[in-house]
Amino acid sequence: MHKLEGIAKNVKVCQNCKLCETRTNAVPGKGRFDADVIFVGEAPGRNEDIHGEPFVGAAGKRLDMILENTGINREDVYITNIVKCRPPNNRVPSKMEEDACNAFINQEIKIINPKIICVMGNTAYGTLLGGKEITKNHGKIVEKDGRKFFVTFHPAATIYNQKLVDDLKKDFKKLSQFLADDEEEKQYEDRRCDFCMGKTKHEIVVVPKVVTRKRRWLYKCTECNHERWLVPYRTVAESLY
Ligand code: URA
Repeated sequence: MHKLEGIAKNVKVCQNCKLCETRTNAVPGKGRFDADVIFVGEAPGRNEDIHGEPFVGAAGKRLDMILENTGINREDVYITNIVKCRPPNNRVPSKMEEDACNAFINQEIKIINPKIICVMGNTAYGTLLGGKEITKNHGKIVEKDGRKFFVTFHPAATIYNQKLVDDLKKDFKKLSQFLADDEEEKQYEDRRCDFCMGKTKHEIVVVPKVVTRKRRWLYKCTECNHERWLVPYRTVAESLY
């Protein structure tokens, strides 16, 4: 059994706080065990409590809509909450309830070891980063204990405040840009010089005029200074320019 399945099993029978007395189902995290990004919300709502899955109600629809708009596939990520059981009437979870659940989120993060954790809303922001003013800090990447966190609004906040939809979409675009840049970085890390097989270093250069309007990368080997041009993501262009 995968370690995350073990955690899900423990979540389902957890009795660490009184929320176990009022829940229908505890709601473990769901998604890819090797996801690049974990999305963290507050706590399950009514629909999540019924189905035992995170973000399947109104807030989940908002999240889906914004993920789709950003080109991030829900199947490629991992989604979870700070608190795994529904607080009655969807009230904000208490500090005691958050503390009782703390071990679960810490384990999920440690096992998945994502590139970035998307912190959605005040509860997740407070618990994971000790932060308070999400309106001032949304859209930022914060580093803590060697991990990267991306701070943004809770999707449910956009249900009552239409203006926030645009802000949330912009934030998610930044997040997806971070993930794309990270991929580019990986390509560079893997790249070796054709001449001396040393690691190459790239500089991004825009080549204007007749030749191309596309951005090109100039790869320079840090060992022998051999240079070659590449157009990112086009293997056909992986020839000497
Ligand atoms: N709100 C959350 O924070 N989490 C859910 O799973 C659903 C709504």
